[in-house]
Amino acid sequence: LDAPPYEPRDPARLTVLSGPTAVGKGTIMAEMRRRAPDLLISVSATTREPRPGEIDGVHYYFLTPAQFDDLVATGRMLEWAVVHGRNRYGTPREPVERELAAGRPVFLELDLQGARQVRRAMPGANFVFLAPPSWDELVRRLTGRGTEGPAERERRLDTARDELAAVAEFDHVIVNDEVGRATDELLSLMGVTERVD
Ligand code: 5GP
Repeated sequence: LDAPPYEPRDPARLTVLSGPTAVGKGTIMAEMRRRAPDLLISVSATTREPRPGEIDGVHYYFLTPAQFDDLVATGRMLEWAVVHGRNRYGTPREPVERELAAGRPVFLELDLQGARQVRRAMPGANFVFLAPPSWDELVRRLTGRGTEGPAERERRLDTARDELAAVAEFDHVIVNDEVGRATDELLSLMGVTERVD
């Protein structure tokens, strides 16, 4: 992104979570959806195939490469990147800007390249890194979920090494040792109060 597309009034209301493959971002996001249902968790667009159980418009907008190109070409992506050397992922700009303009908090889960793009555009946002308790535990989680074959696993672990090396670029580090505890830490860091029904 060349120019900041938008200056939020209270930039700290935008939180960007990043972290290596299989660290548990998906599980934490599901827990956040449950505990803070009013928080806007941006739904990314992607050109990858849905995994079993993934719902279009909930987990991602699953787009064809041509549809993705169109959003980029018309400036409707806040950021986008090729992740794990294959598929494209990006954040639709409009919902994020609308919520921030209304003074509501917004949450993005991005790979490192996306987080760096947002930091250039919105340096005042809150950048959080989700770390595994150890490298061995990360490998165990990636292997255990069984959604990638050996070649794709190797590719993701290569990316993970680079991402872990960038931890010092972030404002906060949360170790995902236990989902409930890590989610508590994330919500309190964002200043989001849980809705108690
Ligand atoms: P997965 O294919 O496992 O769902 O996601 C792969 C990676 O894409 C994750 O590390 C995630 O952080 C990243 N990702 C998901 N959505 C976006 C997005 O909108 N922008 C960028 N830059 N990365 C994303």
